[in-house]
Amino acid sequence: MMRNPQPLSALDMPRFAGLTTMMRLPAVDSAEGLNAGFIGVPFDLGTSNRNGTRYGPRAIRAESVLVRPYNMATGAAPFDSLVVSDLGDVRLNPYNLLNSIDMITDRIASVAGSGCRPLILGGDHTVLLPHLRALAATHGTLALIQVDAHADTLDELYGEKVTHGTPVRRAVEEGLIDPNRVVQIGLRGSGYHPDDFRWGERLGFLVVQAEELWHRSATPVMETVRKKVGEGPVYLTFDIDSLDLGVAPGTGTPEIGGLTSIQALEIIRGLRGLDLVGCDLVEVSPMYDLTGATALTAAHLLFEMLCVLPGVQYEEGER
Ligand code: MN
Ligand code: MN
Repeated sequence: MMRNPQPLSALDMPRFAGLTTMMRLPAVDSAEGLNAGFIGVPFDLGTSNRNGTRYGPRAIRAESVLVRPYNMATGAAPFDSLVVSDLGDVRLNPYNLLNSIDMITDRIASVAGSGCRPLILGGDHTVLLPHLRALAATHGTLALIQVDAHADTLDELYGEKVTHGTPVRRAVEEGLIDPNRVVQIGLRGSGYHPDDFRWGERLGFLVVQAEELWHRSATPVMETVRKKVGEGPVYLTFDIDSLDLGVAPGTGTPEIGGLTSIQALEIIRGLRGLDLVGCDLVEVSPMYDLTGATALTAAHLLFEMLCVLPGVQYEEGER
């Protein structure tokens, strides 16, 4: 029997050696035949403060050499269940934001059109818009789960409509997401207006501010989240700045008082059973990530996303 592609084991080749793909998976160009594929979007033209997320995918891949193929907490065996590879990076035009957005849309749509669920390594959060355009074109209107310190529902920045502070508002306007099936988790910090976080709530979003999760497990609220998004296609967008800046300092718009890495695991594991059609992990900026902890955390969270995709089998001793 042919075995699915497997990560190159550190038992066969030391972690610090060999080519650096996501989790040391085979690199492929085509998504044909894949159930899921990691794909990088090295983009930072939409940032409003610190940049550098164009280097995010490379840093996440480099740190991902430490992620092993079985999930010891949940029993998930994703590589025994699914055909997964690394699809490389999306081609971009670093001199043109809007042109790049279209290039991202086309590439992700082609991946999704092959029946492959993309697991996307960002990139600043502007890239959420082309991801949603591509996946809504394939699957219809989506539910959205956004884990983020920021709502990203601004109308514009400096007159620009496509930035990393605006993708969720654009997605609502374009009908890519159903406002009654949108959840935002981890919002906090200071705002431009006192009702910044209420814009989505007025349309039907469920907003779970970071303060509601302080000093407690995120697991109970995930039942509410699952009910809110219900059946039908769901997209997960995970902005690494949802985590406390002590946990994940390597990002462009850090905020204090954020989620712990444990809560991040609880949130992603709480998505099991949903029809996740794609996921992204965005806003990792390696030049502010002196220990690599932010990129390492991102790599682990992407693995956890893979572990909750539909079709993943759970081994004996499942919890
Ligand atoms: Mn964001
Ligand atoms: Mn953010």
